[in-house]
Amino acid sequence: MGVLTGKTALVTGASRGIGRGIAERLGRDGARVAVHYGTNEAAAKETVAAIEAAGGEAFAIGQELGAPGDAAALWAAFDARAEGLDILVNNAGIAATRPFGAIGEEEFDRVFAVNTKAPFFLAQLGAERLRDGGRIVNVSTGLSRAALMPDLIAYSMAKAALDVFTRDLSKVLGPRRITVNAVAPGIVDTDINAGWLRGGEEAWAGAAAMSALGGVGTPAEIADVVAFLASDDARWVTGAWIDATGGSLT
Ligand code: NDP
Repeated sequence: MGVLTGKTALVTGASRGIGRGIAERLGRDGARVAVHYGTNEAAAKETVAAIEAAGGEAFAIGQELGAPGDAAALWAAFDARAEGLDILVNNAGIAATRPFGAIGEEEFDRVFAVNTKAPFFLAQLGAERLRDGGRIVNVSTGLSRAALMPDLIAYSMAKAALDVFTRDLSKVLGPRRITVNAVAPGIVDTDINAGWLRGGEEAWAGAAAMSALGGVGTPAEIADVVAFLASDDARWVTGAWIDATGGSLT
């Protein structure tokens, strides 16, 4: 019996990276996990298989986020497989690494559509499915609090808006004892960083040096923080922004 036995969770972007780590951890804790993906169905199936191999229960749902109607379509797919929800983790996200002067309107809109607008409407349409006492966890970034990588300016802005959404939504849903929190990772070894982080020892050492703990984060380290927020132990924590950067902001 895990601490989340009997609960249902939806983790967006759970086919790979941090989302996969979160889905596997919530599955180990006993939740039945909806493993959302954008286009990579094979990877989502791997996450489902990993959860099942560990004795858990999961199913995959595909839905591209960032276009009108995306949230409604995702919930329709979810409803076909599950009745009601206890934990929503808005994890799916995209980066946009480009100097201030080079960002075009289309890219700017896309970054906000995926990182900010999709979580907003997933939560809005999800609220009626979330049972009282439920959980929403939004995956932010340390970059919304420190200008460590100014070439990610549009991305950091989109996540900062997600932080404000987290704060205000905690007041909206608080009367139903639904908590809403943000977890802010630092640099984590996932595909989103593959282009530069896995490029050589120098890049890796530079990334590791940003953390007070002297390392690059793993999906499991972020997942453990999300699992705490999803658990009953965190019932009195809401509207919070949890620094999970390994001390990169200190
Ligand atoms: P990855 O690129 O490794 O994985 C991204 C996940 O999101 C995949 O499951 C992908 O699905 C899904 N996804 C991406 N775009 C869309 C879309 N338009 N529609 C639907 N699904 C989509 O990213 P990470 O695991 O690194 O990042 C997860 C979250 O953590 C993001 O919100 C990111 O901003 C945040 N974060 C990451 C940090 C890092 O260093 N890695 C640091 C700070 C924050 P599919 O497999 O189908 O493509």
